[in-house]
Amino acid sequence: MEYISENLKTPIAKKCDVLVAGGGIAGISAALAAARSGAKTILLEKQFMLGGLGTCGLVTIYLPLCDGLGNQVSFGIAEELLLMSIKHGADAKYPKPWLENGTKEEKAKRRFEVQYNPYLFAILAEKLLLKEGVEIMYGTSACSAVCDGGKIKNIVIENKSGRSAVEVKSVVDCTGDADVAYLAGAECAKYSYKNILAAWYYYTDKNGGFHLKMRGVADEADNPVEKLVDKTFEAVENDELCEMTYLSHGSIYSDFVKHWEKDKSYALTSLATIPQVRMTRRIAAEYDLDLADDHKKFDDSVGMFSSWRKAGPVFEIPFRSLYNGKVKNLAVAGRCFGVKDNLWDLSRVIPVCAVSGEAAGCAAAMSDDFASLDVSKLQEKLTQNGVKLHLDD
Ligand SMILES: Cc1cc2nc3c(=O)[nH]c(=O)nc-3n(C[C@H](O)[C@H](O)[C@H](O)COP(=O)(O)OP(=O)(O)OC[C@H]3O[C@@H](n4cnc5c(N)ncnc54)[C@H](O)[C@@H]3O)c2cc1C
Repeated sequence: MEYISENLKTPIAKKCDVLVAGGGIAGISAALAAARSGAKTILLEKQFMLGGLGTCGLVTIYLPLCDGLGNQVSFGIAEELLLMSIKHGADAKYPKPWLENGTKEEKAKRRFEVQYNPYLFAILAEKLLLKEGVEIMYGTSACSAVCDGGKIKNIVIENKSGRSAVEVKSVVDCTGDADVAYLAGAECAKYSYKNILAAWYYYTDKNGGFHLKMRGVADEADNPVEKLVDKTFEAVENDELCEMTYLSHGSIYSDFVKHWEKDKSYALTSLATIPQVRMTRRIAAEYDLDLADDHKKFDDSVGMFSSWRKAGPVFEIPFRSLYNGKVKNLAVAGRCFGVKDNLWDLSRVIPVCAVSGEAAGCAAAMSDDFASLDVSKLQEKLTQNGVKLHLDD
């Protein structure tokens, strides 16, 4: 490898209490929670649209807030965003018993999940964050973390205006791939099974409507239902992400042509503008949550989630799964918080990103040293916000 040296003097463009990197579902939730807790909050998003995979990635199925037995387990911002997503009507999967006073029996037969419109979601999320006083910096990437004494002091950013730094008290990494944690030197881990290729897109046909075509649906971690190519991807290196994108576009085009040849009204209407990757890189947390932790009570629980695959399992999220003490003022939320490979496929989905995001955002507003945060104060705050922490609550 050849190198060049750059002589950089980087201006400190902004200062904030809480910096949230990444404006997907986790980042929206973290920024909302931090701002509502009174912190001056900046949200960095490298796209010019909020929602991450949940909008730009065309993944528009808000998986369940309930356990499949008629009990709701995820609350707070996770519920608020689900309701926001269908403010103008659900695209599909309207959960009638949950929204119209159904009985527990009816709720047990119908999971509390919806399919929503990605563009309305992005606009409504932006309006909500602006109303709560979050500064959203679009077109802005977090590209380096400057640490001192085990804490991040500055996040270096790049955008149309060039390179500058934000001075921070605490940071929430919601990049989906633990990019900030990795840049700050926190221990990270990759998904050992790697990602299958996904090629989800939207189309319209002669019946009208706007339909989601889900190609490359994940089944069990190492046993995908539908393999579009005979290859899997780690998806944390840019060259590989480019290759995935070429393959995904090629696969979508073939599928489109197959339908279009039979029906000339079949139109491809939306392509994902970010790579459709599921499990990539995560932090090695103080506690990596395990599939065997089903129904286990954690004293430091900050919220709960269920299994989208089957009725029954419920997991409490210990606060320790959201940080790695090596970087004291960095919390992680969304699809890159600390879980073992066997649980990752359940923890990466939209409601869990919202639950972990809310907890991390609240914590970041309260402390710049998560290992010494009084978790009971964080739990008190989350409970006030309507979050349920334990199975027996
Ligand atoms: C094909 C596929 C199908 C899925 N199906 C479902 C489903 O049906 N239902 C469900 O609930 N979940 C599903 N998921 C999972 C779910 O969509 C995602 O895991 C979840 O939306 C992730 O949210 P997040 O906020 O953690 O991360 P992301 O959505 O990945 O958001 C991260 C955001 O951070 C930004 N970003 C990244 N790096 C930086 C940086 N350095 N600086 C600034 N910004 C940055 C990105 O642009 C992005 O907006 C699916 C995922 C895939 C890939």
